[in-house]
Amino acid sequence: MRMPNVSVEPMSRKSIREFVNKFRQLLGLEDVRYFPIVQFIEWYLPQLGMNYEILTIAEMNDVYGLTNMKKNVLYIREDVYCRAVKGNPRDRFTLCHELGHFLLHAPERVSFARGKIPAYRDPEWQANVFAGELMAPYYLTCCMSVDEMMEECGMSRQAAKIQYGVYHGK
Ligand SMILES: [Zn+2]
Repeated sequence: MRMPNVSVEPMSRKSIREFVNKFRQLLGLEDVRYFPIVQFIEWYLPQLGMNYEILTIAEMNDVYGLTNMKKNVLYIREDVYCRAVKGNPRDRFTLCHELGHFLLHAPERVSFARGKIPAYRDPEWQANVFAGELMAPYYLTCCMSVDEMMEECGMSRQAAKIQYGVYHGK
């Protein structure tokens, strides 16, 4: 979900990639191509002190996922959750994006912004980079085609194309 008019501590793609790789290592998931984001949210997130709640479409309106750092709750819209459980690539990305907010954007790292925010300080840019790198880490997927990334990592074509472009300078 968009965090409006806020700026966060700067992170480059390189530093987000290093963070993601360490995170996967800590979980013992460094060789796993299909990141189990739903299982992670259900099993591990509560152990990190973060709860999650599934809310109805009426409660969330057009918001797919929302991270409330002050309450330590990740709200997920029920249809997004159900599709992610079934492996829908876009909904898996949404959950990875919200996890990025949770892991990278603790309240003390967030401030209100004046004017245009550079990408590397934009929480949405950082959460999208986090999600792309988490679903398709460079060391596992740099030799894959877009179709292989979609198949092996459970990504949408759009997300796989972006990650492929990053890895091949396109
Ligand atoms: Zn967001």
